Amino acid sequence: MSIQEQIEALRDELHQHNYNYYVQDNSTISDFEFDVKLKQLQELEAKHPEFYDASSPTLRVGGEITKNFETVAHEHRMYSLENSYSKDDLLDWETRIKKMVDGAISYTCELKYDGASISLTYENGKLLKAVTRGDGFQGDNVTANIKTIKSVPLQLKGDYPEKFDIRGEIVLPFEGFIKMNEERIEIGEEPYRNPRNTASGSLKLQDSSEVAKRPLECLLYNITGNNLNIKTQSESLEKARSWGFKVPEIAKEVNSIDAVLEFIAHWDIHRHDLPYETDGVVIKVNDLQQQEELGYTAKAPRWAMAYKFKAEQVSTRLNEITYQVGRTGAITPVANLEPVELAGTTVKRASLHNADQIEKLDICEGDMVFVEKGGEIIPKIIAVDLSQRPADSQPTQYITQCPECNTALVRQEGEAQHYCPNYNGCKPQIIGRIQHFISRKAMDIDGLGGETVALFVNAALISNYSDLYELTLEDVLPLERMAQKSAENLLNGIQASKDVPFERVLFGLGIRYVGETVAKKLVKHYKTIGAIANATIIDLVTVDEIGVRIAESVTDFFQTQTNIEIVERLIRFGVQMEISAEKLANQTNKLEGQAFVVSGVFHLVSRNELKKLIEDNGGKVSSSISSKTNFVIAGDNMGPSKKEKADSLAVSIISEQDFLNMIL
Ligand code: AMP
Ligand code: ZN
Repeated sequence: MSIQEQIEALRDELHQHNYNYYVQDNSTISDFEFDVKLKQLQELEAKHPEFYDASSPTLRVGGEITKNFETVAHEHRMYSLENSYSKDDLLDWETRIKKMVDGAISYTCELKYDGASISLTYENGKLLKAVTRGDGFQGDNVTANIKTIKSVPLQLKGDYPEKFDIRGEIVLPFEGFIKMNEERIEIGEEPYRNPRNTASGSLKLQDSSEVAKRPLECLLYNITGNNLNIKTQSESLEKARSWGFKVPEIAKEVNSIDAVLEFIAHWDIHRHDLPYETDGVVIKVNDLQQQEELGYTAKAPRWAMAYKFKAEQVSTRLNEITYQVGRTGAITPVANLEPVELAGTTVKRASLHNADQIEKLDICEGDMVFVEKGGEIIPKIIAVDLSQRPADSQPTQYITQCPECNTALVRQEGEAQHYCPNYNGCKPQIIGRIQHFISRKAMDIDGLGGETVALFVNAALISNYSDLYELTLEDVLPLERMAQKSAENLLNGIQASKDVPFERVLFGLGIRYVGETVAKKLVKHYKTIGAIANATIIDLVTVDEIGVRIAESVTDFFQTQTNIEIVERLIRFGVQMEISAEKLANQTNKLEGQAFVVSGVFHLVSRNELKKLIEDNGGKVSSSISSKTNFVIAGDNMGPSKKEKADSLAVSIISEQDFLNMIL
């Protein structure tokens, strides 16, 4: 097989596996094998840039940066939909359209996916561009980001037309949304409010490799174009499916408004079992000839109608507002409600988010409130029924002291949340930090769970995570429900955690904003805890992806005496506090003291890989050219102003090949 044939075979194979997994939900290869093949392809592509292909599965990992999204006109306008809310609305609509077309009308019913709309243009079976809806006439070109969504086919199959647009919705399924939020909470960040806004926000991220990390999906529902030779909407859904698009099977063809109503009634209940958010049903005239006769109003097609599900809402009494203290000291007010049934679950509590939210709602204990389950996973209080406010109602006074340790709360300028500053003395913070330290992605201590940690802290056996390493059988055994065997397991688990690699230890320390990725970056760059502890803010921000906020948090942590002592104890106990020799072996200092700026689009290696190679070999990556820059690695389309700047400062401009020659 020639190199070109090998590359093409790998691409075809990976496209097929992607399709099986992300469109068909049917995996046909192990993750490991997939990664191996992807790496093979990446290597071949790097060696043979002459076979570059804008549809290669290697583009799924992202890496392209878009500073300003280009505005693109839609060849076919993206319309909005008219809304209906009742059987009568639908019957009126049917009466109207029956006057305008001949013959019987049949309909397709589809779910209305709640996400961000997108228009994809395909030419000769390849994704040419992806554009957001914008104002319907023109939107933003977000192609690089969309290519990272695995259910968007980059190469079509079957008998697809030469050129067409296909419209759909980018959604963020609940499972992935919840996982993203767990990760945010882990690093002390506010969770995202709902999947829809998070999905649409994702499309406009500048770094496509960030988009690649988000578990987005693309659900398609409409094909637009000329000479497509398709006769009905149901046929177009089937065709799209056969070309490799993800088109939910739920769509149904029916012959009467009564049948439409049955579909609505069914999905109004069963939508709660779907993996993603929907907010209604879209009813479309099935026959495309009839659709054409009906045409459009100024805003929407006459041949389609949205039916909005009623957001499920109930009213109940707010019994009490309580306040929770998180691991970072953040205070969250919680509404404790008179238990009430809502969308199939019993709701007892709802988050009130922060003091501003309480003020905005003008909410008091004893109020009757409206609770809704909309896009949010956690039910939300949307309003107070002021007409039912008790005469003796007292205005809500936001707490000024920590409910756990009575310390005066602080609220930083520009932050929504109040914090308890009693870092070392506030129980939930102490317990939360140790729980984070032992968690799966950090020290992953076998035999030790979150509740046991709370038990140890309450029994005054430990007060920070370094104390874990001094626990003995005699300490642990007297505790309730602690058998000899499990006590031994637990202590062995603690000992074993001394081998956990430094990057996970660093993550486990629970420095605010230092999540898994940031911890890895810091470890790679600084290599030892000492170097990280001594780094200044100015120094830290030169590390790729470390901003001022993270830098400040890191320096704050290592300027706190108690933290210094705890870290020193961890070192003494033998916990890993530097990068392992094995990791170090992959790194050189060939580029020591050299500063690089990377600009443009690359073919041999991705932009992120270039940065990694620079750092692995001891060089520095900075984002803008200055007199300190030694080299600019220029790809295609490097901006003219960058070139001018480099020339004026006499900074060498080199190609990616030149760069690879420096390190190989
Ligand atoms: P609206 O934003 O309320 O005007 O509703 C119109 C939007 O619904 C369209 O722009 C689409 O993004 C979205 N939508 C979701 N699911 C469908 C579907 N099955 N058919 C048509 N539009 C849909
Ligand atoms: Zn406190």
